Amino acid sequence: MDTKQLDKQYIMHTYGRYDVALKSGKGCYAYDEDGKKYLDVSSGIGVNSLGYCDEGWVKAVTAQAGEIQHMSNYFYCAQASKLAQTLCEKTHFAKVCFGNSGAEANECAIKVARKYSFDKYGEGRNEIITLKNSFHGRTVTTLSATGQDNFHTYFYPFTEGFRYAEPDIESVKSLVSEKTCGVLLECVQGEGGVNILDKDFVKSVSELCAEKDLVLIVDEVQTGIGRTGKLFCFENFDIEPDLATCAKGIGGGLPIGLCLCGKKLEDVMQPSTHGSTFAANPVVCAGANYVLSVVADEKFLDEVNKKGEYLKNKLLEIKGIKSVRNLGLMVGIELENGDAHDIAVKCVENGLLIITAKSLLRMLPPLNISYGELDEAVEILKKTLEETI
Ligand SMILES: *Cc1c(COP(=O)(O)O)cnc(C)c1O
Repeated sequence: MDTKQLDKQYIMHTYGRYDVALKSGKGCYAYDEDGKKYLDVSSGIGVNSLGYCDEGWVKAVTAQAGEIQHMSNYFYCAQASKLAQTLCEKTHFAKVCFGNSGAEANECAIKVARKYSFDKYGEGRNEIITLKNSFHGRTVTTLSATGQDNFHTYFYPFTEGFRYAEPDIESVKSLVSEKTCGVLLECVQGEGGVNILDKDFVKSVSELCAEKDLVLIVDEVQTGIGRTGKLFCFENFDIEPDLATCAKGIGGGLPIGLCLCGKKLEDVMQPSTHGSTFAANPVVCAGANYVLSVVADEKFLDEVNKKGEYLKNKLLEIKGIKSVRNLGLMVGIELENGDAHDIAVKCVENGLLIITAKSLLRMLPPLNISYGELDEAVEILKKTLEETI
C-alpha cells in the first residue's frame, strides 16, 4: 500500500488532507513522493519558520541529538536555560515554562492566571474572558477557551470558567465581574480569519487588566517569533502582557510550546504545580535556539515587514482578489468570489502549498523567503485564479 492508502486505513480521520504525500524539502520548496516540486507559502502552518531543512538548523539539531537527546526535568538542561535566557533578555518577561505544543502552552498560561488569583484573592476568582472567533487549541480546556460555538460540541463536560467577548472594550467590560481573573486574546486571530485586532482596543484591554489586576495573556502561538515583523506580535500594539504563549514557529519544525511570564507572576508556579515529561527537550531547544539566533535580529525583522508589504501589494494587483490583510508575513487573502478551499486545492495542484483561514486564503511563508520566491507564489496564485474564475 502507498502512503495515502496506509494513512486512510490506519490513521484516525481527524484531518482533511490535500492529495499530496510530501517526502523532502529544501528552503521554500517541498517535493512529493513522485518528485513533483512545490513552493510552500504555508510553512506547515507557520512552523518551518526558516523553511525546510535550513542548514544551520539541521546542524544544531543533529549535533545536539548526538550529544544528549533527553534527560527529564529532574536535571538541568543547557539548551533550555539558554533559550529561556534569550527570550527573557529580548522581552520584558522574567521566566519561561516549557511545554510541547500551543495548546499545552495555553493550558499553562490559564493555570498561572488562575493560581495567581487564587493565591491573592482566594477561591472563586477564576473566569477568563476570551474573544469570539478566537482559537486556542484542541485540549478540552483550550477548546473551552476558544470563542467559537462549533468547537463546543461532543466532548462534554467542557472546562468551566470562560466568557466570550466581542473585540470591543464595552463588551469585555460587561463580562468583568468579581469572578474574573484574566483576559486571553490573539492580537491577530489566525485560525479565525487573520483578523488584526484594533490597536486601541488591545491597549484598552491592557489598561483594564492593569486597573482590575486581571492577568493579560496574549496567545502568540501563531503570531510569535518574527511572524508579524516583531519578535512578538504584541510589540506592534505597544502593550506588555503578563503572560504570552508561543509554539508553532519557534522550534523551526520540532514540537515545542512556551509560556512566558512577567515579574509579577514569576513565583506563582512552584514544584509539582505543573510539568510535562517531554518539555524542554534539548534537541528541540537546540533547534529553537538556532531559530532565535536568526530571527531575533532587527534587520531580519525589518525584512519580514518589507516582504509582507511587497507581497500584499503584488497580491492586490491580481484580478479576483478583493482585499489583503497582513501583519508582516501573516497574510489573509479575501477573494471576490469562489471558495477559498477549492482555490487552495487548485493552487496545490499547480505547485503552490497554501492554506485557508475561514473564507480566506492564508499565507504564512518561511520568514527567510526571497522576493523572487514571493513573485513566484503570486504568479501561481494569479494563474490559478485565471483558470477558475
Ligand atoms: C495553532 C494554534 C494553537 C494550538 O497549537 P497546537 O500546537 O496545535 O496545540 C493555539 N493558539 C493559536 C493562536 C494557534 O494558532
